[in-house]
Amino acid sequence: MDVPSRMDSGERGDDVADEGQRGFFGLLGSRIGKQRGDTAANLHTYEALLLLQNYEESGQGWFWSTDAKGQLTYITDSVARLMGRTAGTLLGTALTDLFLPVDSHGERQRTLPFLLTKQSKFDKLPLRSAFEGDDRWWAISGRPQFDGGGKFTGYRGSGTDVTTQRRSAEDASRLALYDSLTGLANRFAISKKLDTTLAAFAQQQRSCAIMLLDLDRFKQVNDTLGHPAGDALLKQVAERLLKIVGNKEMVSRLGGDEFQIILPDIEDRGKLGDMAADIIASLSQPYSVEGSRCIIGASVGVAIAPFDGLSSDDLVRNADLALYAAKGNGRGRFSFYSSDLHTAAEDRRALEDDLRDALVRGEMALVYQPVVNSKSNMVSGVEALIRWTRPDRGVISPSLFIPIAEEAGLIWKIGEWVLRTACEDAASWPGDMRVAVNVSPIQFANADLPKIVAKALAATGLAPDRLELEITESVFLGDTAETAHMFKALKDLGVRLALDDFGTGYSSLAYLQSAPFDKIKIDQSFVRDATIPGSRNGAIIAAIVALAEALEMETTAEGIESLDQLELIRKLNVSHVQGYVYSRGVPQAELLEHTEGAWTIKPAGPARQRNDRFSLFRKVGAIHDNHRYAVVIRNLSATGAFIEGLLDVPVGTRFVIDFGEGQLVTATVRRSMKHQQGVEFEQTMVSDGNGGLCTRHRVSPYLIAAATQSTSALALPSFTTTSDWKAA
Ligand code: C2E
Ligand code: MG
Ligand code: MG
Repeated sequence: MDVPSRMDSGERGDDVADEGQRGFFGLLGSRIGKQRGDTAANLHTYEALLLLQNYEESGQGWFWSTDAKGQLTYITDSVARLMGRTAGTLLGTALTDLFLPVDSHGERQRTLPFLLTKQSKFDKLPLRSAFEGDDRWWAISGRPQFDGGGKFTGYRGSGTDVTTQRRSAEDASRLALYDSLTGLANRFAISKKLDTTLAAFAQQQRSCAIMLLDLDRFKQVNDTLGHPAGDALLKQVAERLLKIVGNKEMVSRLGGDEFQIILPDIEDRGKLGDMAADIIASLSQPYSVEGSRCIIGASVGVAIAPFDGLSSDDLVRNADLALYAAKGNGRGRFSFYSSDLHTAAEDRRALEDDLRDALVRGEMALVYQPVVNSKSNMVSGVEALIRWTRPDRGVISPSLFIPIAEEAGLIWKIGEWVLRTACEDAASWPGDMRVAVNVSPIQFANADLPKIVAKALAATGLAPDRLELEITESVFLGDTAETAHMFKALKDLGVRLALDDFGTGYSSLAYLQSAPFDKIKIDQSFVRDATIPGSRNGAIIAAIVALAEALEMETTAEGIESLDQLELIRKLNVSHVQGYVYSRGVPQAELLEHTEGAWTIKPAGPARQRNDRFSLFRKVGAIHDNHRYAVVIRNLSATGAFIEGLLDVPVGTRFVIDFGEGQLVTATVRRSMKHQQGVEFEQTMVSDGNGGLCTRHRVSPYLIAAATQSTSALALPSFTTTSDWKAA
């Protein structure tokens, strides 16, 4: 403790210039010390000064004083040293020069000089050190001083170091805006961003799209590889998203495996669809996390302001609905919002409810689709396909209800029933025809699967090698020991394994070497594309066949409908074919008529596959000369349609087809046959992500609002032909 020594030096009558270095209280103490021993009051003051000096030395706080001009007359030396100076050199400096003139938001700091000129007192004013290399924050308090005559003489005050509190407050606000795992904006920040963007854009009549994104099978990665792996994966997902979107502020993680992207000034659904497809493709590439390889997918829902909503709440809700639809349509897809999704979502919920006891009510049945040797036309086996008939709704596709069953946890019961029924049926066939059964990845992930299979075989007496389990490549989430284990356990039972839907996900030939498949089933979409001129799929199929042959696996081409496809498939040496060209799925009763002896089927079907046209029945409007006619679209492609409902429309007539929800397309009649017209679109339509089509652009609600206010009708293109055709 050096207080006595300072008192001593004071007693020695040191120069006043030395005051700064020795400390204010040191000096005062020395002066008081000169009168030491005088009165009790003096002793009390002395004690107080010692305490203050201790305080100053402890570093918890410091003191300063200025003269009437605001120049320092005192500052605690230890603090001056933190600022890279000494108290002595700082005396005479303006107090305001100790601190940066800007605050933490970069705005000019006017408070301190203002307070000083007003001679007001201030408390814990946060200020940043102005000295280079010193990025401390100080909380400064000060009180104005007046002499006996009430004249302002300066300030006395104190300061404390608040750097730590300040930093943690900054961290907290950063945390409040950013997702700590990925560094992307968080839910709070993106929703604020969307609010402000939409508010500004509504005034300027600009459009703004949002995408909601959900990872497929992320939960499985988390469960099988562990949470740290899940976290590492999410970081990589964020990086890939940023690479595509570019603007960091516009991408956010909402939580879990959900992401949101804001895309200002885009309403072109062609562009948005391409972008969504890019995102899905990028996120579906394999990841390497903690030495394991894993594959996930993504689904995307898109909503666009002002068409699909003006407020951020509406827009997000609608994008969410679109996302839900995308997932319901088989995952790995995108979907645009449209108002009929509301009913679709309700339907889906109702479907889930009904699905719960569909088995008990006996609404499920199996059909068997022949798998045919492509050279001999001999049926070598059948695939069991589930059919659900709802009394009021008719047959529902498994592509629709299997994902619901998976999500609702019902797949296990349904899967067990399928397995048991298929084995039972197959055991009753006279020959030794094989039966293939689809196994959901959810079933595959359950360690009990081999037991269930063994039980079904034992109960029905079916020879194990007559049962083939079809597994999709999504079971290859990672090179986990469990996957290998499951394959071995199933092979040990003596059943056959087939890789289903090859060519739809991330098709890696690498699995084929490690997993003990007996067959590869090449997906329909892959085969379809192969017949398109310029497609490389044919060459890829040839490579798959060559590899499969080398590994002694069979190949099956799925979904062959036309004779040209069959011809191609035969040329590519695919050993088996399954498709309408041979047969659709047939019920057990019908199958039994064929199972005695050899069963051959003669292929039959259209000469070629038309890829680009959908048959449908959709009521739309055809607008001509300010009349709106109700017509039905019977056949739609990106470039044209067949419509019904008008009689004898001359070739060359132009009108606008109103597909609803602001989707207008100008069309010209190219063929006219009584009540049917073939029309060509002026603007090609684009994919809606679900195998359907939509217009690239829509008529903006702003324009509609403006048009209904003014006398002029919607700004539709004018027509060149007058016509005398009428509604049929
Ligand atoms: P998948 O396993 O790839 O089955 C082949 C699908 O293609 C069947 O559709 C079949 O009817 C259809 N298909 C066959 N040939 C043609 C053709 O020439 N043209 C066209 N357009 N389609 C053809 P389905 O029965 O609607 O089943 C769809 C998917 O649902 C199946 O695809 C399978 O993944 C799943 N699934 C069906 N039954 C079951 C089941 O019992 N359990 C599980 N977990 N999934 C099932
Ligand atoms: Mg299958
Ligand atoms: Mg398949």
